[in-house]
Amino acid sequence: MSGGAVVNPQALHVLQTVFGYPQFRDSQAEIVNHVATGGDALVLMPTGGGKSLCYQIPSLLRDGVGVVVSPLIALMQDQVDALAELGVRAAFLNSTQTFEESSRIERLLRTGELDLVYVAPERLLTPRCMDLLQASKIALFAIDEAHCVSQWGHDFRPEYIKLSVLHECFPDVPRIALTATADAQTRAEIALRLQLGEARHFVSSFDRPNIRYQIVEKGSGRKQLIDFIEGEHKGDAGIVYCLSRRKVEETADFLNTQGINALPYHAGMDYAQRSKNQSRFLREDGIVMVATIAFGMGIDKPDVRFVAHLDLPKSIEGYYQETGRAGRDGAPASAWMAYGLQDVVLQRRMIDESDADDSFKRVLGVKLDAMLGLCETLSCRRMHLLDYFGQASGPCGNCDTCLTPPVSFDATVPVQKLLSAIYRVDQRFAAGHVIDVLRGIETERVKQWRHDQLSTFGIGQDISEAEWRAILRQVIALGLVSVDYEVYNSLKLTDAAKPVLRGGEQIQLRRYQKPVKARREASKPKGYAEAELSPRDQIIFDKLRWWRVETARSHNLPAYVIFVDATLREIAKAKPASLEQLRGVSGVGERKLASYGDEIVALITELTA
Ligand code: ADP
Ligand code: ZN
Repeated sequence: MSGGAVVNPQALHVLQTVFGYPQFRDSQAEIVNHVATGGDALVLMPTGGGKSLCYQIPSLLRDGVGVVVSPLIALMQDQVDALAELGVRAAFLNSTQTFEESSRIERLLRTGELDLVYVAPERLLTPRCMDLLQASKIALFAIDEAHCVSQWGHDFRPEYIKLSVLHECFPDVPRIALTATADAQTRAEIALRLQLGEARHFVSSFDRPNIRYQIVEKGSGRKQLIDFIEGEHKGDAGIVYCLSRRKVEETADFLNTQGINALPYHAGMDYAQRSKNQSRFLREDGIVMVATIAFGMGIDKPDVRFVAHLDLPKSIEGYYQETGRAGRDGAPASAWMAYGLQDVVLQRRMIDESDADDSFKRVLGVKLDAMLGLCETLSCRRMHLLDYFGQASGPCGNCDTCLTPPVSFDATVPVQKLLSAIYRVDQRFAAGHVIDVLRGIETERVKQWRHDQLSTFGIGQDISEAEWRAILRQVIALGLVSVDYEVYNSLKLTDAAKPVLRGGEQIQLRRYQKPVKARREASKPKGYAEAELSPRDQIIFDKLRWWRVETARSHNLPAYVIFVDATLREIAKAKPASLEQLRGVSGVGERKLASYGDEIVALITELTA
């Protein structure tokens, strides 16, 4: 699909011969046309949507070098290597280079021998670099991760604000700003601060149809994670997000004891170890990265098959950005999360105890409530997510609530029982004790406080402890009960609880569902059947992957830079007997055909003989 735009034949030619893809995706063709003909653009596309081509192809079509501003210096080497593999003349300028190395790049820029140069914003703004750019022919400026200009966002970088200077110094050079952050406020802020008032806005659909969303009730957490990985993603590369550094370490250790190849990543680790783990994750097959949210921005490894959350994210924006790192190659992928009572309590507490002023705390509270709404929803998760980003859609058939619709029930009576139990213990006790009272359990503490004498003692015997926790969690999410962190996490009734206690309000809740072990066959993500190979093709695919491991190692490149899984899979199916046939496979451009074509054809011939 090309969004109905007329596809520029030269752009299509570059797409096919350099990148090896048969056609543009969605709005790519229109964006490329617009920028290649000198227009400014503001591009909002979800992670994995294909933003890079939107500036790479115009850079190749226009005279001069495309200057890409990116905050992600750790990834520049891989980006440049990947372009070199395609025969594109690319380089970067950042603080990790020696003086000799950057002088060499600067010479290449002056003499017009580069197609693309990646520059860190702080570097770009130096007088030396600005002079260099003035002396060079520039095709365009691409401002990647453009939401970094937003002071409200979580990735704010002060240097980004100064990038408006590009417009002042180079009024005739087209600029394209790109981000995966969707909300209208951020978009307006980007347009304003980068002086992109004239820019055309391209807002893509935010749907990622190949990602299956699942949010389960948290039981043991870690054990559920193992069942999920073993059941649905054995041997796959994935990311597991945890809230704290300690939990990251513990979870990575635990996964390793369970035979899963896991590495930790968090900001408290020393730089060398962190980058080593990141590079192994990118280069090797099937590694699980256990990380805090410090990990991931700009990680464009296309074959991450799952993103798991062991703790509740703070907002839907964060959740969507993190889960978006799964399945960038378009093949089936999962976003899985375990969520429980403690998560709600902890996140509320973190907001309360933060240094933020009251108005900002209110913003954080609203964002958290939206996230809780997603967790507790009775309808399609994807509809709920897209609706949050202002996009209407219908039930998707590829999320847990679509596949196994949750049951809602009239919980008015149990909720009343819970609220009165909290009231009867003088709002001075935490969840565990309140549930013991409801279930009529004579613990030491119950006897000590004579809570077995209360009228609420044992009135909830018919409901299991896990179910009570699920009810309490939802009641807290609804704001009927709050948790007092200063006093032993004691439960308190809010004003909103009164009408319910008086019987004036009916409460509909989601029925507790016992965690079930994932079954491998039943729960494969959608699209798996199409991606499934015949046993014979599977053997060829496996051999191709081995060939790729060897080749990547000898060229010192990440495996996916050679070919992504989707391309190898197609080769296994097509079994090309000649270079001409191999040329027709998506992901095989001219340069890769020249570099690897003979080896691949020879391998296929040998395997099919
Ligand atoms: P983003 O930066 O938006 O997260 P990328 O530019 O990294 O996404 O693209 C994601 C993946 O999709 C990459 O592997 C890229 O090569 C692939 N891709 C992009 N455009 C196309 C296309 N038109 N056809 C096939 N694959 C594409
Ligand atoms: Zn759905």
